[in-house]
Amino acid sequence: MRKPENCEHHHFHARVDVNRIIDIGKFVADIKIECSECKTPFEFIGVPAGHSYAGPRTSIDFCQLSAPIQPFAGKLAARSVFEAYDPAVRPTDA
Ligand SMILES: [Zn+2]
Repeated sequence: MRKPENCEHHHFHARVDVNRIIDIGKFVADIKIECSECKTPFEFIGVPAGHSYAGPRTSIDFCQLSAPIQPFAGKLAARSVFEAYDPAVRPTDA
């Protein structure tokens, strides 16, 4: 296994667990990504930590994304937003 400080993170391993919350009839996808060479976990950027069925959240270390999902409802976005960002500024620095 390569040491993280010597790795350029070229290859990845992703794990997705889809959970059905029977009590409330909701679905959640839990996603983790790591470098397959050095095993460094990747953080999800721009998503707040916590838990919600209304929108995506991350674990407290930002390394697991929990995204509420549902079977495709056949709707298309009426409007999309694309933003540029400064990679030197993390969302948690604001
Ligand atoms: Zn790596």
